Amino acid sequence: SKAFDLSESLLERLRSGRRTLRAVDNIDLAVYQGETLGIVGESGSGKSTVAKLLAGLSRPTDGAVRFDGDSVGTVTERTDDCRSDIGFVFQDAGESINPRQTVRETIAEPLLEQGWEKERREARVQTLLDRLDLPTAVASRRSHQLSGGQRQRVALARALALEPRVLILDEPTTGLDASTRSRLLDVLDSLQRRLDLTYVVISHDLDVVRHLADRVLVMYLGRVVERGPAELLFDRPSHPYTAALVESIPPLDGTMPLEGEVPSAVDPPSGCAFHTRCPKAEPECVNTVPESRAVGRAETRCHFADAVADGNRTSKHPGC
Ligand code: SF4
Ligand code: MG
Repeated sequence: SKAFDLSESLLERLRSGRRTLRAVDNIDLAVYQGETLGIVGESGSGKSTVAKLLAGLSRPTDGAVRFDGDSVGTVTERTDDCRSDIGFVFQDAGESINPRQTVRETIAEPLLEQGWEKERREARVQTLLDRLDLPTAVASRRSHQLSGGQRQRVALARALALEPRVLILDEPTTGLDASTRSRLLDVLDSLQRRLDLTYVVISHDLDVVRHLADRVLVMYLGRVVERGPAELLFDRPSHPYTAALVESIPPLDGTMPLEGEVPSAVDPPSGCAFHTRCPKAEPECVNTVPESRAVGRAETRCHFADAVADGNRTSKHPGC
């Protein structure tokens, strides 16, 4: 069943100077119970805006974000049984832990806000430490006494305190070294299985998305340019932007997989907004906005999606 549902006309406009830019434009997406949806794109693609909309931290100017049929604003304000259905771990969450608080206080804070009694709070904190494989001794430490991986787990424990069903993870592995990152991915995998969690993972690191996601949504300048099952997008992308991202694995943090700057969202290019950087661009791309169309099990906004998909299949599996 659908956990999240963003209505078809969802628009999020942000002000930039005196002009209004559309951070996300006409996105409709559903997130299904128990799945992991990956959202990828360079910075400025609007993926963090989508995360904030899902988390109820910002409201769309147009359209609605629903969780289980209710508006997300209502869901995040309401806590039934001192629980909360949506949890989130934001970028640099590990770094943003209050340095004056102990780990125990950090994790217990949302419980305290919901009025949990001390005994129940402490039992819950212990359960969360166990779930995240954090030794009990860590509970009395402060953030400067923790490793980067431990800090990220503390942030996760805190996000799980109120037993959410959905966890929104914005760049969960930023700043972690390779082995810490792979341990964190394992922890996320096992938490999902044990707690039947739904994940929305936002990342510019395609390796992370490949590891975690069942379905992927690729964003460029506030629009979804391709979406589909993860294995399909990685093996046979049908949008040139997706293909460029996939080819650039492993990306260095924040590097552009493509030549050229991401154009300004205040004044996006005409036609297909990707045409200024697209290696496959043709004259019609400058004038005509591509509609979203089905390419096998994916949905793609490119005039030449079929040819792109065929080209990628040919190059990766010669002889097929
Ligand atoms: Fe490239 Fe044209 Fe496709 Fe846009 S529509 S991705 S510019 S080929
Ligand atoms: Mg971001």
